[in-house]
Amino acid sequence: MKALVKTAKGPGHVELKSDWPKPVVRPGWVLVEVVASGICGTDVHILEDTHKNWPPVVLGHEYTGRIVEVGNDCGAWKVGDRVVCEQHTLACMSCDACRRGAIHLCPAKRSPGWGIDGAFAEFVLLPANLLHKVPDGVSFRTATVTEPTAICITGIDRAGIAIGERVVVVGPGPIGLISAMLVKAAGASEVVLVGRASSAKRLEIAESLGIKTHTLKDNVSAVSALGDTFDLAIDSTGAGESLTLCALLTRRLGRVLELGLANQSEVPFNINAATTKSITIFTSLSSEYSSWDRALAFMASKKYDPAVLTSIYPLEQWEEAFADVESRKVVKGVITPQDISVLDQTQ
Ligand SMILES: [Zn+2]
Ligand SMILES: [Zn+2]
Repeated sequence: MKALVKTAKGPGHVELKSDWPKPVVRPGWVLVEVVASGICGTDVHILEDTHKNWPPVVLGHEYTGRIVEVGNDCGAWKVGDRVVCEQHTLACMSCDACRRGAIHLCPAKRSPGWGIDGAFAEFVLLPANLLHKVPDGVSFRTATVTEPTAICITGIDRAGIAIGERVVVVGPGPIGLISAMLVKAAGASEVVLVGRASSAKRLEIAESLGIKTHTLKDNVSAVSALGDTFDLAIDSTGAGESLTLCALLTRRLGRVLELGLANQSEVPFNINAATTKSITIFTSLSSEYSSWDRALAFMASKKYDPAVLTSIYPLEQWEEAFADVESRKVVKGVITPQDISVLDQTQ
């Protein structure tokens, strides 16, 4: 089958293979025909070898598709079911995190797309216990954004959101845009997305969705334009100055949520900007089980539809897709091994 493979350690070493072995179904696992798989910052980091990976391995971890074969002991899953899958394969089930039910934080887990074969391919093998059914009425195009949506829901759960609260989000990448859309749909009275002029296209998309935007020059001018009374500020970037900006924009006793990972081990952060207002700072990694079902239910309700963030590329054009994601020409590049029309199927 066709598959986009990281063939060896080191920067690069990613190539489209036409003769990659089709996975063989085994007990507890199902074979899924891939319809769509989103490109994430992590994929770019794997290409550059700055994220852990176990080559040779098929990339792609934000996928959706249809079950074509079911192994023994897979419960009620059947051929034809449309699915997405949590990323917590090979969680050990015996460490502290796993025994607390937080398998998404297991240090031993190896997810499809970097730890085991992923979904930039025609088929992917997935464990039945981590599957979620895509509801009728939700297109594959929308469902392929379930994983990043679940990541945002998991983080927003930790920080909390109350009806009518005012929220500012820093960074208009996929995680920032998705977070802004979610808190707006979840009852925030005002949502402002902050980004640099280089992200003007992404800020335009936010405006078209009824989200206010602010073009960032520097932290001082952002605070004078937006004030310092937001209930919740979400940083999607992991950059220290963005986290500082979140603290500056937040009211006394407000909350800040860090959803980004830093590019280096240490970043500068103005602690007093948070301490002098008794701000609570939350961090969050990966996505917990119930976030996936709620992401899909929210999509089915039509209150939230991230399809507007996606740009579709055939698997053969993966290099162009990766380049467009890196250059921020598109928000969420999505790769399909199938005819693009299949992404519109809703059952
Ligand atoms: Zn990802
Ligand atoms: Zn574990």
